[in-house]
Amino acid sequence: MDDRGNSPDKRPTGDTGTRSRALLSTTRHWPCWKKTSRGTPIELLASMSVDDLRRSRPILLMGGVHGDEPEGVQFAEETLRWLLEAEAAGEKLCPWILIPCLNVDGRAADQRVNARGVDLNRNYPSRDWTTESKADRYFPGPQAASEVEVQGVVELIRDFHPRLIIHCHSWEPCIVATGDRALRDGERLARASGYELRPEIGYPTPGSLSRYAWHDLQIPVICIEERDRHNGMSDLSEVWPRFAPGIQEIFRDLTDRGAST
Ligand SMILES: [Zn+2]
Repeated sequence: MDDRGNSPDKRPTGDTGTRSRALLSTTRHWPCWKKTSRGTPIELLASMSVDDLRRSRPILLMGGVHGDEPEGVQFAEETLRWLLEAEAAGEKLCPWILIPCLNVDGRAADQRVNARGVDLNRNYPSRDWTTESKADRYFPGPQAASEVEVQGVVELIRDFHPRLIIHCHSWEPCIVATGDRALRDGERLARASGYELRPEIGYPTPGSLSRYAWHDLQIPVICIEERDRHNGMSDLSEVWPRFAPGIQEIFRDLTDRGAST
C-alpha cells in the first residue's frame, strides 16, 4: 500500500457501494489494493491517508474471507456506508481500514476457498500453522502466507499495528472475541445481536487470523459469525440492523484498546 492513490476512473464499474465511495478522496480508496492469483482486484478503503494511518493504530475490518459467506461482505459494505455517512456528518470515529471482500475470487465462485483452493483463514503465518487439514475446504496452502490475500493482510498488520481486527463470517450465530482486549467490543456486538459471546470458536484453527494476530502478536481479534443460510438467514437485509448498534459503539469508542501498552 502506498500513498499515490488511484484516480476515480480506475474504479470498477458495477460497484454496489458507488454512492458511499463517492464520499472518499482518492488517497483513501484503493480499488486495486492487491491482485489475486487470477488478477482480480481487491479493494481497500481507509479513514485517512497512509501517513496519518501509520500514527493512529486503526481498526481493521474485513468481509468475504470465505467466498461462500455473503453475510460477511454485506456487513462490511454496510459498515463502510455508515462510517462514511457518519464522518460526512462530522462525527469523530476511530481511524479505520476496511476491506469489503478479501476473497474476491472465492466470492465470485461462491466457494469457501480462494482460486488456488486455499482456506485464507488457515494460511496466516502463525506459529501453529500446519500442512495438515481435516478436509479440502480447510486446505492451509502449500506454505504459510503463500496466498496474496493473506500476504496483504499481514502487511497491513505489520505496517499499521491495528488496535483491533474484526473479520466477518457466517456459520452458526456467535461472536468470537479472541484476547482479553477484544472482550469489551465483543460484548457490544453480542449485546446488539443477542448472539453468544465466545473466547474461542470451539475447535482448533491453526493458521487462522486469531492465532496469528492475537496469540502471536497480541492484537485483539473479533470474528463475527452471522447466521448463514443453513441457520436461518433468509434475507441479507437482516444483517446490518442486527449488528449496527454494536459496531457503531465500537467505532465511537476512541480509546486505543490498550494497543499502546
Ligand atoms: Zn468463514
